[in-house]
Amino acid sequence: MQGLVIKSTGSWYQVHAEDGEIYDCRIKGKFRIKGIQTTNPLAVGDQVDFELEPNSGNGVIDKLHERKNYIIRKSINLSKQAQIIAANMDQAFLVVTLASPRTSMGFIDRFLATAEAYGIPAVLIFNKLDLFNDAGLEILEDYKAIYENIGYPCYTVSALEGTNIHIIEDLLKDKTTLFSGHSGVGKSSLINALMPDLDIKTGEVSEASDKGQHTTTFAEMHELPFGGYLIDTPGIRELGIFDIRPEELGHYFVEMRALLNQCKFHNCRHVNEPGCAVIKAVEEGEIELSRYESYLSIYHGNETRA
Ligand code: GDP
Ligand code: ZN
Repeated sequence: MQGLVIKSTGSWYQVHAEDGEIYDCRIKGKFRIKGIQTTNPLAVGDQVDFELEPNSGNGVIDKLHERKNYIIRKSINLSKQAQIIAANMDQAFLVVTLASPRTSMGFIDRFLATAEAYGIPAVLIFNKLDLFNDAGLEILEDYKAIYENIGYPCYTVSALEGTNIHIIEDLLKDKTTLFSGHSGVGKSSLINALMPDLDIKTGEVSEASDKGQHTTTFAEMHELPFGGYLIDTPGIRELGIFDIRPEELGHYFVEMRALLNQCKFHNCRHVNEPGCAVIKAVEEGEIELSRYESYLSIYHGNETRA
């Protein structure tokens, strides 16, 4: 039988099968991604084949279908290994806020570059719209413009008051969507507004308490009542840009991508080279300074880690 992995605990998987039933499954054999060592073989979103064991009624997974895409992060315990978080997403939503707490542009830009690297279309959801006065709304529009100008759809919502939730529903319908966002932005509140029956606890996970944690956290996949799946990543603070080499990074900043072959040096890092088309575009205001600063910060971060 074929089915969709909707829950993973590391050794057991819940598979939503073609027959509509949900089966507890184990794995037989090895599933590997070429070139990457992973701590877990399968993740939510994976399509698998399994056989039912006659006695237990449980399944044994013996085949993984090819993944359209997947996201990984560095394993918490074993730095050289990666954890697969989720597979086969149609889109990735980042929930952000400009106040209480403020999401930094660096965080947004890292997320967007990561989504580009994995080939997953990204969308920004600005939550807590109810907190904004007129001056705040203007700042919000400026933020949105930065990202809309380079092609990322942006939406403003209030999970608290239910504003524009129907727009998000339309975007999610019949798709598999990754939901991300740092703690406190209202991700749980938004998921609850979209799926009232689920009742996720809000306001309880704190960034600080997550830091020393050594257990592996798995993503959770929820079937949406109006069609489609939502993948929540509770406790996963950031999708790391794990396997991107510094010299590739410019490709994942969409507005830089088109300029890369105009730099004087073919191996330009866009840091301080003469004749750099990216730096010129930043100076001329065609590339937003904040975006370029994010590029530099990720570039230097990845460089020192490598
Ligand atoms: P999460 O950590 O991203 O899952 O955030 P939560 O859903 O737990 O929300 C964090 C805090 O923000 C809680 O106190 C929520 O009540 C509050 N919150 C969530 N959405 C909104 C919103 O749209 N407006 C306002 N004013 N507060 C919100
Ligand atoms: Zn350059």
